[in-house]
Amino acid sequence: MELKCRLSKSLVTFKSLHFPYKREKQSSHRYRVSVGIGGNVGDVKRRFNHLFVMLKKDNRVEVLQTALILKNPPFGFKDQDDFFNSIIIMQISMQPFTFLKYLLRIEKKFARKRSFANAPRTLDLDIIFFDNRVVKTKNLTIPHIDWSSRNSVVIPLEGLR
Ligand code: AMP
Repeated sequence: MELKCRLSKSLVTFKSLHFPYKREKQSSHRYRVSVGIGGNVGDVKRRFNHLFVMLKKDNRVEVLQTALILKNPPFGFKDQDDFFNSIIIMQISMQPFTFLKYLLRIEKKFARKRSFANAPRTLDLDIIFFDNRVVKTKNLTIPHIDWSSRNSVVIPLEGLR
């Protein structure tokens, strides 16, 4: 079952199988992270649900909450399909760079191909927040750059409160 709600001409939210979701118990993992998920190739909502099931089975992470799914227009390279985005909140014990590698491996598993900036993608995983940490390096910026000006992050996040 899927519930659809039009927010504006270009923004639509969806409730899908595991989005939104909330777990009442905390886990013993140390850090709370918010991961932005996105994609615009193939059946993205189905892929998000598949990702959720995969994460639930992995004892390196504990999924605490997921947001609604937002369909929204692409930015940067505009000549491509709309994106679907959501947020997954999880607890982990990995450090930021280890967690980034972990996410990049998952993207690969879902057949993500890197071509050019802002290109179409099957699954994009971004670390939005990592506890209250600030990381500013060449390969990793936390909080994620521009998160506060992106509908794709702000609208799913708002619904989590
Ligand atoms: P993109 O696929 O365009 O989202 O870019 C992915 C690359 O962005 C990764 O390989 C990281 O090195 C870099 N990156 C920088 N900050 C972050 C972040 N907070 N979360 C995920 N990737 C990041």
